[in-house]
Amino acid sequence: MELRKVTYRMYPGTRQTEKLEELLGLHQRVYNTALEERIRVYGETSKTLGFAAQCKELTSWRKQCEALAAVNAQSLQVTLKRLDLAYAAFFRRVKAGETAGFPRFKPIQRFAGWGYKTHGDGFRLQAGDKMRHGHVRLSGVGMVRVRGQARTPGAVKTAEVQHKGGRWYLSVTVECNPQRASGTLAMGLDWGLESFATVCSSDEKTHSVANPRFLDKPQRQILKVLQQAVSRKKDKRTNNRRKAVALLSAESRRIANRRKDFLHKTSAGLVNQYGLIATEQLSVKNMTASGGAHKRGLNRSILDTAPSTFLNLLKTKAEEAGSLWVEVPTRQVKPSQTCHRCGSQCKKLLSERRHQCDCGASCSRDENAARVMLHWALYGNATGQELSEVGNGSRLAAQNHEIPHIAALVAWVG
Ligand SMILES: [Zn+2]
Repeated sequence: MELRKVTYRMYPGTRQTEKLEELLGLHQRVYNTALEERIRVYGETSKTLGFAAQCKELTSWRKQCEALAAVNAQSLQVTLKRLDLAYAAFFRRVKAGETAGFPRFKPIQRFAGWGYKTHGDGFRLQAGDKMRHGHVRLSGVGMVRVRGQARTPGAVKTAEVQHKGGRWYLSVTVECNPQRASGTLAMGLDWGLESFATVCSSDEKTHSVANPRFLDKPQRQILKVLQQAVSRKKDKRTNNRRKAVALLSAESRRIANRRKDFLHKTSAGLVNQYGLIATEQLSVKNMTASGGAHKRGLNRSILDTAPSTFLNLLKTKAEEAGSLWVEVPTRQVKPSQTCHRCGSQCKKLLSERRHQCDCGASCSRDENAARVMLHWALYGNATGQELSEVGNGSRLAAQNHEIPHIAALVAWVG
């Protein structure tokens, strides 16, 4: 059994919206007050108030405040837990020597929402067939209409109410058994900039997934104009400013949705076709370290294509489908510097986009890297040579590589 998130959009009525906003305000105040308390107690005693101590305090706050007493108790504890996690993350970063921002007070616009720990305690989802659309009963709010759908239905566990760009969402975790059909071919995948990804498969075909570039120049221009419109309207309480903010957040949401849609569809399509996926571990952090003007452009396009999100989705879907996921150790294999045909190694600059080797191999840099990774996953070397010797002299007896081979491979990959 695994946990998956399903997000429903909520459609509250006017009265329900008022109640949701009221709840958001109460959770925000609990969060900020708890933070204030932690700071105060630390200042006086040099000791940090823990989660358990704050839960006790919460009980006394609820006795003093009627509005707070009416709020679902577990959900308030979840808010305290969030603060606790923010503290834990802060100390972890400090310990790791990273720049760590201290947990901050949150204004209502930045306060994302609240959560529930147990289905039936504060929230109950009543969705239709296959968990498609329906209603959620929220304590203190009533029955709210929701629209959305679970890919794999299952038992509802926890929920979060989210307030984003003026809309309300219910994000539910569902315990389920995700299943997905997987293909039978093996492939190597190189993630790139010129094309989004280059895929070489064991039937000797190569194709590339075109780069969608969600933030191309005209699109950036639109965002810039909208951002300027917001920053020109300095008074935060005016209607014009509110309208400008709404336009900007609608546009950002549109881009984010298009990106998400592309990433989901592309990764699902690949898993559908392939039973083995070999790819490199990505280090986006190193790739996007700050640099000169050229590097900034590069950074932008790297972040625009969201490679780590994509690889995570691909990996999750591969697991659901029972496909084999092989992470090629970059330092050991050096996919971009190794020739897929003869195995010789030669350093390439990031600007060299072709692979040309003395052995006669000539293809794009990305295709070469994808082939090297595929070979490494299948045969344990960069060129697939073992098979050419064993397999009847024909190098690609691996054609239409059926994956009975995979059992042995799993054992071998470990
Ligand atoms: Zn070569």
